[in-house]
Parts: sequence; structure tokens; C-alpha cells
Amino acid sequence: MTTADGIPGASPTLPTTAVPPGAHPAHPHPHPRWPHATLDTRGHRPVPFRQFVLKVHSRCNLACTYCYVYEGQDGSWRHRPVRVGEDTMRTAAARIGEHVAAHRLRRIRIELHGGEPLLSGPGPVLAYARAVRAAVPTDCRITATVQTNGTLLTEDTVGRLAAAGLRVGLSLDGGLAAHNARRRDHAGRPAWPAAHRAARLLAVRRDAYAGILCTIDLGAAPRGVYHSLLDLAPPAVDFLLPHGNWAAPPPGLDPGARPGRHRPRPTPYGDWLAALFDAWWDAERAPVRIRLFHEIVALLLGAPSTAEAVGLSPLAAVVVDTDGAIEQVDSLKSAYPGAPATGLDVRRHPFDDALRHPGIAARQLGERALAGTCRRCPVHRVCGGGNYVHRYAPGSGFRHPSVYCADLERLIRHVAHRLSHTTQPRPNPPTSPL
Ligand code: SF4
Repeated sequence: MTTADGIPGASPTLPTTAVPPGAHPAHPHPHPRWPHATLDTRGHRPVPFRQFVLKVHSRCNLACTYCYVYEGQDGSWRHRPVRVGEDTMRTAAARIGEHVAAHRLRRIRIELHGGEPLLSGPGPVLAYARAVRAAVPTDCRITATVQTNGTLLTEDTVGRLAAAGLRVGLSLDGGLAAHNARRRDHAGRPAWPAAHRAARLLAVRRDAYAGILCTIDLGAAPRGVYHSLLDLAPPAVDFLLPHGNWAAPPPGLDPGARPGRHRPRPTPYGDWLAALFDAWWDAERAPVRIRLFHEIVALLLGAPSTAEAVGLSPLAAVVVDTDGAIEQVDSLKSAYPGAPATGLDVRRHPFDDALRHPGIAARQLGERALAGTCRRCPVHRVCGGGNYVHRYAPGSGFRHPSVYCADLERLIRHVAHRLSHTTQPRPNPPTSPL
């Protein structure tokens, strides 16, 4: 699961004392020194949550080889209820309503997730969305999406979700069977035929189609992935770097590297994304919104970021698991077992308590949370140190440059070059920080 946004807008009302971190009882694992023991939150004004990731089902019908939830070290899903109960839905919804009212939020997003959220059919997804809508003040606009692997999506399900105002995001690794070879069910059967059917269903239901999440595979040619995805007609594509860190680098990066800047070094992901950017940028009319590129271009032009992959905007996302536990984003599971745990749950704690958790506060501190290397880096306002989870090193924690540091700089400089080349003839060219 990979979605989490940072949305600016600070709350002046909350104190900044950190609550002690908690780990899931099944996985007591020492949290790293930073941020859990040494975070300095003086002067920090927490930013209210605006994105609520609600777990509907804690299991998945697929066993993708790179999955950090089910194939990684964190087995906390084994100890959660398989399905979210009605009581948990109501309590979580009431907490969201309380948070929205306390901070006078006018707009929030809810994302119905798993596991695979449609494993019990669309009923629980629809019920959760209804519960939140009933609990939130009517002057707050709610955008609701379901993130699915698509294998269980039928025309009837799409129709019911669309009728309830929910949009569907699909997780794929490209638009061809070969791109999706790592996505298989527990018996080893490919997920692609069913997922492809889902993509075709959504292509004719634009009102219900949120877009595609695509994890980068260096073994696939970037232009081939790009054009095959265009054939599925998504309104947007989110390209995600495979999760990794300094202890467990992603495929293709040096397993012996240590945090810091080790230049020059190969930049396979930067090269891959730069080739993809050129295919997208050189199209006569950009046929699809690619969020990472929109973000980088906007940041280069001086706008704030709205995604966690780049930029310095505060993270405003929180997770509620099927047992009601308030968690940080799932991608932290790629760092160490129990990393997303806060020790809080919706029955006993308001979301404001989670805002004071050091793991969440650290992701709202912007430049103050960066390593010295990053603060001195010429592209840091655009890069933002990269995705927080990619900065992890055992013991010391998350105050390091991204394990993708060289790749990010390669991509950002490439985009800046293309942007400045394109905009030079304009009468008022935007200034680039590079
Ligand atoms: S490129 Fe990004 S991760 Fe690397 S030093 Fe600069 S800001 Fe930090």
C-alpha cells in the first residue's frame, strides 16, 4: 500500500509533547534513536490529518513477490481481524468526524485499503464510506477511493462503488502481462488476466477511475511501460520507487553502500525515470497525469508539494487498521517490524494524540527533519530528502539522505534542464533553484 499525502495548513491549537512510541505487541522491536528518542519538536505546530487510510480487509488474495506487507519482515497483519468490524468502522468514523470538526477541515480524503479491500465484496467498503460521511460535518467535502489489485472487480461492483461516489485505483506494474509477472496469487497463477479485465471495465467508467499505481521494475523498458499503461486509459499514474533503505537497498542499488553521498554512482532509477519523463514531456499533449512529474515540475516552479515522494510539505496521512489501531503509513513496514505502530487506537485515542507521536511529528517538520547532507544539497527543496521510508538505517533511524539520493538528484536535474529549455522563450521564465 503506498499512498500518503502531505498537505500544508498548520493547526495552531495542539501542544507538541511527544507521546511514547508503541510497537505492536506481536512485534516488540526497538524503534531507532531518531525520531523516537531524540526528536526536537520545539516550535512545531502539528498539521491536522486530511487523509485517512482505512483498512477494510487485512488479507490479500495475491502474493506479489516484492510485497513489503505480506512478504516482508512485519507480520503484524497475522494478528489483526481479517475484516474490519462494524463497531470499529463506527468508532473510526466518529474519530474522523471529531478531528474534522476540531480543526474545521473543509476537505478530507478517505482511502479504503487492505490487503485487498474487495475480498469481502463491495459491502464493507461502501459501509465504511457511509459511516464516515454520516460522522463528518456536512460542510466538509470527502473524496473517497478504493485501492485494489483489480482481480475481484466486476461491472456490478464498479457500478455500486461509482453510485456511492467512490473511485477506484488499480495497482499494476505496467500494461502488459510481462510487466505483471511478479503479481501472482497464492497458487502462483498470474493476476494479470483478471487485473486487465478490471482496467478495461474502468476505462469505460471514467467517473469511477482514479488511476493506476505502478511500482517501477528496472527490468522493464520505461517507454514500453509508459505506452502500455496509456493503452489502459488511466486518468493518472503514480510511479512508485520500490521500497528499500540503507540496510535493504532496492534491486539494482549497491548493497554495500552506507548513508551519505557516494558520488559518482550508477543511477538506474534516475535514468529510468528520466527516460519516462522524456516520453511524457515530449508528447504533443500530456495524455495522462503522472503525479511524480507534476510534483517535481511544480516544486521547481516554486509551488509546495502534495505528495510524500518529494518536497518538504508535512505528511497529513494516518492509517486505521482492521482492529482500530492508529498506525503510520504501511510503507514503514519495509524498514523494520512494527515500524508503523503508534500504540494508539480509535477506541481510546483521538487523532490529535497521533499528531504528537514522534514518527508522525518527524514527517511534519520539513527541512528540520533532514540530514545535514540533505540540508546542504542544492536540490533539497525539490527532493525533500526523498520518501521518508527510504532514509532508514538500523540504529540511527530516518535522518539520512534517501537510499535513492543519486537517482533523485539525477531525475530532478534532468527535469530542471528540460523545463528551463522549454520555458526559456517565455517572457517571464520561472526561476529554478538549480
Ligand atoms: S538529492 Fe535528495 S536525498 Fe540526496 S542529498 Fe539531496 S536532498 Fe538529500
